[in-house]
Amino acid sequence: MNFIERLVNIVYPPKCIFCQKLLDHDAALHICSACYLKLPLVENRILKTSLDEEENYCDGVVSVFEYTGMVKESLIRFKFYNKPSYYRTYARLLADKIGKVTDVKNYQMVLSVPLHKHKEFSRGYNQARLISKALSRLLKKRECSYLLKRERYTEAQSLMDKQKRNQNVKGAFAVVSPNKVKGKAILLVDDILTTGSTLEECGRVLKQAGAEKVFAVVVATGRK
Ligand SMILES: [Zn+2]
Repeated sequence: MNFIERLVNIVYPPKCIFCQKLLDHDAALHICSACYLKLPLVENRILKTSLDEEENYCDGVVSVFEYTGMVKESLIRFKFYNKPSYYRTYARLLADKIGKVTDVKNYQMVLSVPLHKHKEFSRGYNQARLISKALSRLLKKRECSYLLKRERYTEAQSLMDKQKRNQNVKGAFAVVSPNKVKGKAILLVDDILTTGSTLEECGRVLKQAGAEKVFAVVVATGRK
């Protein structure tokens, strides 16, 4: 923990991101011991972003948790109820997970799935980018979220089936400076994996711009 983080922890004592219990001010992971034992962890293996054989522009995806119960509630607070500080704990868990399934030194940059600027404005922050920034510091990689932008507004996807989601995100993203991603191996950050259509569309435009490898990393997966 750096000096600023220590200071923040003294002024705003950290709380468990799952049950909101107060923790010691020097806690690096904001998870209490009781919650830690109950976490719905996903085993250390690489999943496919798309379940369709012909797709999979991403070279794989890894998730820390299953998107259920306490994890789901925590991510909902993080996204919609103004708990942006949770990014620190999620990023630490992700850094640890990535190190267990792939060789971090093979990657050059970290970037996040972009939100439309209107959405980011109304929420006040982009949750995936907060995680991406912290993760890039932990892994000592460049943070390049600016290279990927959302071209158009997409409808909320939670009630759509897979085919609808694919159509919904098609053409939604663009790479800002293709020469900067050419030949690079990229860690692509998002908060939740469901059908994988958003990650796949980001993977598609990054590969089209010449990225050598796109490995997706998410806090939680809604897949069974
Ligand atoms: Zn707890």
